Amino acid sequence: MSKIKKNLLVSICIFIIGGIIYGAIHMDIVKGESVQAIKIKVENINITKKPAVLKVKEEKKAMVAQKPVLKKRSDMVIVIDPGHASANSLAKEQQAPGSNIMKIKESGGAQGIKTKTPEYVVNMAVAVRLKSLLEKKGYTVIMTKTQNKLMLGNIARAKVGNTAKADLVIRIHADSNNNSSVKGASMLVPADTKNTNAIYKTSKRYGTIVLNNLIGSVGMTNRGVVERNDLTGFNWSVVPVILVEMGFQSNDYEDKLLATVSYQNKLSKALSEGIDKALIN
Ligand SMILES: [Zn+2]
Repeated sequence: MSKIKKNLLVSICIFIIGGIIYGAIHMDIVKGESVQAIKIKVENINITKKPAVLKVKEEKKAMVAQKPVLKKRSDMVIVIDPGHASANSLAKEQQAPGSNIMKIKESGGAQGIKTKTPEYVVNMAVAVRLKSLLEKKGYTVIMTKTQNKLMLGNIARAKVGNTAKADLVIRIHADSNNNSSVKGASMLVPADTKNTNAIYKTSKRYGTIVLNNLIGSVGMTNRGVVERNDLTGFNWSVVPVILVEMGFQSNDYEDKLLATVSYQNKLSKALSEGIDKALIN
Protein backbone atom coordinates (compact mmCIF):
# COMPACT_ATOMS: atom_id res chain seq x y z
CA MET A 1 0.00 0.00 0.00
CA SER A 2 1.42 3.31 -1.00
CA LYS A 3 1.63 6.12 1.53
CA ILE A 4 -1.00 8.09 -0.36
CA LYS A 5 -3.44 5.17 -0.27
CA LYS A 6 -2.70 4.67 3.44
CA ASN A 7 -3.46 8.33 4.15
CA LEU A 8 -6.64 8.13 2.08
CA LEU A 9 -7.79 5.04 4.01
CA VAL A 10 -7.05 6.74 7.34
CA SER A 11 -8.98 9.83 6.18
CA ILE A 12 -11.99 7.72 5.17
CA CYS A 13 -11.88 5.93 8.52
CA ILE A 14 -11.73 9.24 10.41
CA PHE A 15 -14.59 10.56 8.28
CA ILE A 16 -16.75 7.50 8.97
CA ILE A 17 -16.00 7.46 12.73
CA GLY A 18 -16.56 11.22 12.86
CA GLY A 19 -19.84 10.77 11.11
CA ILE A 20 -20.95 8.11 13.61
CA ILE A 21 -19.96 10.29 16.60
CA TYR A 22 -21.73 13.36 15.07
CA GLY A 23 -24.76 11.25 14.38
CA ALA A 24 -24.92 9.97 17.92
CA ILE A 25 -24.61 13.48 19.39
CA HIS A 26 -27.14 14.89 16.95
CA MET A 27 -29.62 12.10 17.75
CA ASP A 28 -29.44 13.02 21.41
CA ILE A 29 -30.23 16.63 20.54
CA VAL A 30 -33.10 15.52 18.33
CA LYS A 31 -34.28 13.18 21.07
CA GLY A 32 -34.06 16.07 23.50
CA GLU A 33 -36.08 18.23 21.21
CA SER A 34 -38.59 15.47 20.72
CA VAL A 35 -39.19 15.06 24.45
CA GLN A 36 -39.57 18.82 24.77
CA ALA A 37 -41.96 18.89 21.84
CA ILE A 38 -44.08 16.17 23.41
CA LYS A 39 -44.09 18.08 26.68
CA ILE A 40 -45.27 21.22 24.90
CA LYS A 41 -47.91 19.24 23.05
CA VAL A 42 -49.23 17.75 26.32
CA GLU A 43 -49.25 21.20 27.85
CA ASN A 44 -51.21 22.48 24.86
CA ILE A 45 -53.73 19.71 25.31
CA ASN A 46 -54.04 20.64 28.97
CA ILE A 47 -54.57 24.28 28.02
CA THR A 48 -57.30 23.38 25.53
CA LYS A 49 -59.09 21.32 28.21
CA LYS A 50 -62.10 23.29 29.56
CA PRO A 51 -62.18 24.46 33.17
CA ALA A 52 -64.33 22.28 35.45
CA VAL A 53 -67.05 24.93 35.90
CA LEU A 54 -67.54 25.32 32.17
CA LYS A 55 -67.62 21.55 31.81
CA VAL A 56 -70.42 21.21 34.41
CA LYS A 57 -72.35 24.00 32.70
CA GLU A 58 -72.06 22.23 29.36
CA GLU A 59 -73.11 18.92 30.86
CA LYS A 60 -76.19 20.63 32.32
CA LYS A 61 -76.96 22.11 28.92
CA ALA A 62 -76.69 18.66 27.38
CA MET A 63 -79.07 17.29 30.01
CA VAL A 64 -81.62 20.00 29.23
CA ALA A 65 -81.28 19.21 25.55
CA GLN A 66 -81.88 15.54 26.33
CA LYS A 67 -85.07 16.31 28.28
CA PRO A 68 -88.01 14.83 26.39
CA VAL A 69 -89.32 17.33 23.90
CA LEU A 70 -92.91 18.41 24.60
CA LYS A 71 -95.34 15.55 24.19
CA LYS A 72 -97.04 15.12 20.86
CA ARG A 73 -100.82 15.38 20.57
CA SER A 74 -100.98 11.67 19.74
CA ASP A 75 -99.28 10.90 23.08
CA MET A 76 -101.80 12.91 25.10
CA VAL A 77 -105.04 11.88 26.75
CA ILE A 78 -107.82 14.35 27.46
CA VAL A 79 -110.77 13.38 29.63
CA ILE A 80 -114.03 15.23 29.09
CA ASP A 81 -116.54 15.16 31.89
CA PRO A 82 -120.02 16.38 30.93
CA GLY A 83 -121.54 17.73 34.15
CA HIS A 84 -124.69 16.31 35.79
CA ALA A 85 -127.16 13.67 34.68
CA SER A 86 -130.85 13.17 34.02
CA ALA A 87 -130.93 11.26 37.31
CA ASN A 88 -129.94 12.72 40.67
CA SER A 89 -128.55 11.01 43.75
CA LEU A 90 -128.77 12.33 47.27
CA ALA A 91 -126.20 9.76 48.41
CA LYS A 92 -123.13 11.39 49.92
CA GLU A 93 -119.43 11.07 49.25
CA GLN A 94 -116.23 12.40 50.85
CA GLN A 95 -115.39 15.90 49.66
CA ALA A 96 -111.67 15.07 49.72
CA PRO A 97 -109.50 12.10 50.65
CA GLY A 98 -109.32 12.02 54.46
CA SER A 99 -112.03 14.70 54.84
CA ASN A 100 -114.94 14.54 57.30
CA ILE A 101 -117.10 16.63 54.98
CA MET A 102 -119.65 14.63 53.03
CA LYS A 103 -121.34 16.08 49.95
CA ILE A 104 -124.34 15.01 47.88
CA LYS A 105 -123.19 13.01 44.86
CA GLU A 106 -125.47 14.61 42.28
CA SER A 107 -127.90 17.32 43.22
CA GLY A 108 -128.81 18.13 39.63
CA GLY A 109 -127.68 21.01 37.47
CA ALA A 110 -129.19 24.25 36.28
CA GLN A 111 -132.07 24.75 33.87
CA GLY A 112 -132.68 27.35 31.17
CA ILE A 113 -134.77 30.19 32.56
CA LYS A 114 -136.65 30.56 29.25
CA THR A 115 -135.88 27.44 27.22
CA LYS A 116 -136.12 25.07 30.23
CA THR A 117 -133.19 23.14 28.72
CA PRO A 118 -131.58 21.00 31.44
CA GLU A 119 -127.92 21.80 32.04
CA TYR A 120 -126.83 18.20 31.39
CA VAL A 121 -128.21 18.47 27.83
CA VAL A 122 -126.09 21.54 27.06
CA ASN A 123 -123.06 20.03 28.76
CA MET A 124 -123.30 16.76 26.82
CA ALA A 125 -123.91 18.55 23.50
CA VAL A 126 -120.71 20.60 23.93
CA ALA A 127 -118.76 17.61 25.30
CA VAL A 128 -119.56 15.40 22.31
CA ARG A 129 -118.56 18.14 19.84
CA LEU A 130 -115.40 18.91 21.80
CA LYS A 131 -114.42 15.23 21.75
CA SER A 132 -114.68 15.11 17.99
CA LEU A 133 -112.68 18.33 17.49
CA LEU A 134 -109.88 17.21 19.83
CA GLU A 135 -109.70 13.80 18.15
CA LYS A 136 -109.32 15.57 14.79
CA LYS A 137 -106.29 17.36 16.25
CA GLY A 138 -104.81 13.97 17.17
CA TYR A 139 -105.55 13.69 20.90
CA THR A 140 -106.89 10.58 22.57
CA VAL A 141 -110.17 11.57 24.20
CA ILE A 142 -112.06 9.72 26.89
CA MET A 143 -115.54 10.73 28.09
CA THR A 144 -116.50 10.01 31.69
CA LYS A 145 -119.89 9.11 30.22
CA THR A 146 -121.82 9.39 26.98
CA GLN A 147 -125.32 8.83 28.31
CA ASN A 148 -127.25 11.52 30.13
CA LYS A 149 -129.00 9.03 32.35
CA LEU A 150 -125.71 7.72 33.76
CA MET A 151 -125.30 9.20 37.23
CA LEU A 152 -121.68 9.13 38.33
CA GLY A 153 -120.53 10.59 41.62
CA ASN A 154 -117.74 13.17 41.53
CA ILE A 155 -115.20 10.72 42.97
CA ALA A 156 -115.98 8.22 40.21
CA ARG A 157 -115.60 10.98 37.58
CA ALA A 158 -112.24 12.02 39.01
CA LYS A 159 -111.06 8.42 38.97
CA VAL A 160 -111.68 8.22 35.22
CA GLY A 161 -109.06 10.93 34.73
CA ASN A 162 -106.70 9.37 37.25
CA THR A 163 -106.90 5.90 35.69
CA ALA A 164 -106.36 7.34 32.20
CA LYS A 165 -103.35 9.33 33.51
CA ALA A 166 -104.98 12.21 31.66
CA ASP A 167 -102.89 15.18 30.59
CA LEU A 168 -105.99 17.25 31.21
CA VAL A 169 -109.51 16.69 32.53
CA ILE A 170 -112.07 19.28 31.46
CA ARG A 171 -115.40 19.34 33.24
CA ILE A 172 -118.15 20.98 31.21
CA HIS A 173 -120.84 23.03 32.98
CA ALA A 174 -123.25 25.92 32.60
CA ASP A 175 -123.93 28.32 35.44
CA SER A 176 -126.96 29.65 37.29
CA ASN A 177 -127.60 32.59 39.59
CA ASN A 178 -130.60 34.01 41.47
CA ASN A 179 -129.84 37.32 39.78
CA SER A 180 -130.87 36.82 36.15
CA SER A 181 -128.75 39.73 34.94
CA VAL A 182 -125.52 37.89 35.83
CA LYS A 183 -123.83 36.48 32.73
CA GLY A 184 -120.50 35.38 31.37
CA ALA A 185 -118.05 32.52 31.58
CA SER A 186 -115.67 31.49 34.36
CA MET A 187 -113.07 28.80 34.88
CA LEU A 188 -112.93 26.89 38.13
CA VAL A 189 -109.58 25.34 39.09
CA PRO A 190 -108.37 23.51 42.20
CA ALA A 191 -107.13 25.69 45.06
CA ASP A 192 -103.71 24.85 46.47
CA THR A 193 -104.57 22.26 49.15
CA LYS A 194 -102.66 19.23 50.45
CA ASN A 195 -104.70 17.03 48.10
CA THR A 196 -104.27 19.22 45.04
CA ASN A 197 -100.82 20.76 45.53
CA ALA A 198 -99.27 18.62 42.79
CA ILE A 199 -101.86 19.66 40.18
CA TYR A 200 -102.56 23.22 41.36
CA LYS A 201 -100.14 25.19 39.19
CA THR A 202 -100.65 23.25 35.97
CA SER A 203 -104.43 23.25 36.35
CA LYS A 204 -104.47 27.00 36.92
CA ARG A 205 -102.20 27.66 33.94
CA TYR A 206 -104.30 25.46 31.65
CA GLY A 207 -107.54 26.95 33.00
CA THR A 208 -106.34 30.49 32.36
CA ILE A 209 -105.32 29.74 28.77
CA VAL A 210 -108.55 27.90 27.98
CA LEU A 211 -110.75 30.62 29.53
CA ASN A 212 -108.92 33.44 27.76
CA ASN A 213 -109.30 31.66 24.46
CA LEU A 214 -113.00 31.06 25.09
CA ILE A 215 -113.62 34.72 25.95
CA GLY A 216 -111.57 35.90 22.98
CA SER A 217 -113.33 33.61 20.48
CA VAL A 218 -116.93 33.68 21.69
CA GLY A 219 -116.95 37.17 23.18
CA MET A 220 -118.77 36.69 26.47
CA THR A 221 -118.18 38.46 29.81
CA ASN A 222 -115.01 37.24 31.52
CA ARG A 223 -115.76 36.23 35.12
CA GLY A 224 -112.23 35.01 35.64
CA VAL A 225 -110.41 31.99 37.00
CA VAL A 226 -111.72 30.91 40.39
CA GLU A 227 -109.81 28.64 42.79
CA ARG A 228 -112.02 26.14 44.63
CA ASN A 229 -111.12 23.87 47.52
CA ASP A 230 -114.63 22.46 47.98
CA LEU A 231 -115.17 20.56 44.75
CA THR A 232 -115.03 16.80 45.22
CA GLY A 233 -114.12 16.25 41.57
CA PHE A 234 -111.00 18.44 42.03
CA ASN A 235 -109.95 17.09 45.40
CA TRP A 236 -109.89 13.49 44.22
CA SER A 237 -108.01 14.26 41.02
CA VAL A 238 -104.31 13.53 40.69
CA VAL A 239 -104.14 14.92 37.14
CA PRO A 240 -104.62 18.53 35.95
CA VAL A 241 -108.31 19.40 36.01
CA ILE A 242 -110.36 22.45 35.05
CA LEU A 243 -114.10 23.18 35.08
CA VAL A 244 -115.58 25.60 32.59
CA GLU A 245 -118.83 27.43 33.30
CA MET A 246 -119.88 28.37 29.77
CA GLY A 247 -122.50 30.97 30.63
CA PHE A 248 -125.65 31.43 32.72
CA GLN A 249 -128.81 29.49 32.04
CA SER A 250 -130.46 31.87 34.51
CA ASN A 251 -129.86 34.72 32.07
CA ASP A 252 -132.38 35.02 29.20
CA TYR A 253 -129.85 35.89 26.58
CA GLU A 254 -127.28 33.24 27.45
CA ASP A 255 -129.93 30.56 28.06
CA LYS A 256 -131.20 30.98 24.50
CA LEU A 257 -127.68 30.92 23.07
CA LEU A 258 -126.61 27.86 25.08
CA ALA A 259 -129.59 25.91 23.74
CA THR A 260 -128.63 26.44 20.07
CA VAL A 261 -126.46 24.05 18.07
CA SER A 262 -124.57 26.93 16.44
CA TYR A 263 -123.55 28.36 19.84
CA GLN A 264 -122.65 24.88 21.13
CA ASN A 265 -120.42 24.48 18.06
CA LYS A 266 -118.82 27.85 18.73
CA LEU A 267 -118.14 26.94 22.37
CA SER A 268 -116.69 23.53 21.48
CA LYS A 269 -114.43 25.03 18.83
CA ALA A 270 -113.12 27.70 21.20
CA LEU A 271 -112.56 25.13 23.97
CA SER A 272 -110.72 22.74 21.65
CA GLU A 273 -108.44 25.52 20.43
CA GLY A 274 -107.80 26.71 23.99
CA ILE A 275 -106.96 23.19 25.16
CA ASP A 276 -104.62 22.78 22.20
CA LYS A 277 -102.89 26.06 23.06
CA ALA A 278 -102.56 25.01 26.71
CA LEU A 279 -101.15 21.57 26.02
CA ILE A 280 -98.96 22.22 23.00
CA ASN A 281 -97.46 25.67 23.54
ZN1 LIG B 1 -123.16 22.38 36.62
